[in-house]
Amino acid sequence: MNTRYDVVIVGGGMVGATIACALGDSDLSVAVLENFYPPEFEAAQPNDLRVSAISIASQNILQMVGAWDGVLSRRTCPYRRMKVWESNEEKAATEFISDHIGHEYLGHIVENRVIQLSLLERLQAFDNIDLICPAGVEEIDYSPGSSIVRLKDDREIVAKLLIAADGGESRVRQAAGIGVHKWDYEQFALVASVTTAYPQQDITWQQFTPTGPLAFLPLSGNNASLVWYNTPNNVKRLMELDDQQFMAELVATFPECLGEIDQLLERGFFPLRRQHAQQYVAEGVALAGDSAHMIHPLAGQGVNIGLLDAAALAETILRAQRVGEDYTSLSVLQDYEKQRRQHNLVMMQTMDAFYRVFSNQNKPLKVLRNIGFGLAERITPAKNKVMQFAMGLEGPLPALAKLEAI
Ligand SMILES: Cc1cc2nc3c(=O)[nH]c(=O)nc-3n(C[C@H](O)[C@H](O)[C@H](O)COP(=O)(O)OP(=O)(O)OC[C@H]3O[C@@H](n4cnc5c(N)ncnc54)[C@H](O)[C@@H]3O)c2cc1C
Repeated sequence: MNTRYDVVIVGGGMVGATIACALGDSDLSVAVLENFYPPEFEAAQPNDLRVSAISIASQNILQMVGAWDGVLSRRTCPYRRMKVWESNEEKAATEFISDHIGHEYLGHIVENRVIQLSLLERLQAFDNIDLICPAGVEEIDYSPGSSIVRLKDDREIVAKLLIAADGGESRVRQAAGIGVHKWDYEQFALVASVTTAYPQQDITWQQFTPTGPLAFLPLSGNNASLVWYNTPNNVKRLMELDDQQFMAELVATFPECLGEIDQLLERGFFPLRRQHAQQYVAEGVALAGDSAHMIHPLAGQGVNIGLLDAAALAETILRAQRVGEDYTSLSVLQDYEKQRRQHNLVMMQTMDAFYRVFSNQNKPLKVLRNIGFGLAERITPAKNKVMQFAMGLEGPLPALAKLEAI
């Protein structure tokens, strides 16, 4: 069986499903191929390990494609404050508060599954979109204008435009012969889902230490997600401890403001690497989200920039189609690349700079860092800029406005 679509999106994760929803109700026929449908959400379930800090810009995109209500009706935790400091120097902390720039909050911490479920639910309401799940992709044959995705059940899905939203190991990217620049940060992120003695909090904080940051992300109720960045060896050692020993290490290492930990619900770890596709587009193919870029999660920006890709790519396709241009052509797709690649590169370089500056134990640099935190605390315009950056309100957002106007 051979089925043809105008657009085939491989990967129905947060980014792929957003692109699909943005193309909902258009004249384009769209297929989303996703390997796994996430388990349904129930309020009584404990929080998932995978959570993301979602910026105001990302919230706007999810709202625009009709998925934000689904997120709110499931589970989120808004945060109003963000605090950063270096080991033993909480006095020199910088605290960002949303009220200071007239916003109710800086963003939300949301389980990735909640976002994905809300999007998948939304996209199934559109007549022009087919969700093929579980997809079981066997082979991808890239050919500009008529790429073929062969499924394990022998179905062939033919795409005028193939979109890679299939994550860091993207098979679409590989099939299209697009290379990446990459290196491993010599750091893993150990994520622990816990309940604490404090009721629901409205602050996310991060303490920088010589081996990597320690981060607290508030979740609904008295739940929290802790991220312990450390060397691969240390993380492997921590993962081998039993729950009691691990809790003891958490209490000994995390700052006092964490309060008591009542329960450890789950833990897992993620090797961290930086990866950037050499190009985001070729004739008849476009990459978005982690298939195009993977960045250090210390400032929680990976999916936020992925959702900006999603909005920009959908806008580029819809605009071309509206004016009768070929949306699979390299020249049209390069317009998307121009909007996103440089912006994402700057974000990656900023994360690298943070990683390098804070993992360096050079004494004068340490002094400078603390002066920096102290100054940042006192210089209001600088603080406001950082807040806008964290909220996704700094930098280019043209795709949003344009998409709304279509
Ligand atoms: C520890 C950690 C913390 C993070 N915290 C944050 C944060 O706070 N804020 C933030 O913005 N980002 C954060 N990130 C980054 C964020 O998780 C990623 O950027 C985001 O998940 C990328 O979304 P995506 O849809 O592009 O890719 P993915 O999430 O990888 O989704 C890809 C989808 O494609 C599907 N798929 C893959 N291959 C195929 C195939 N062949 N056929 C069919 N389907 C396929 C998969 O099943 C999946 O559903 C964090 C990352 C880590 C590791």
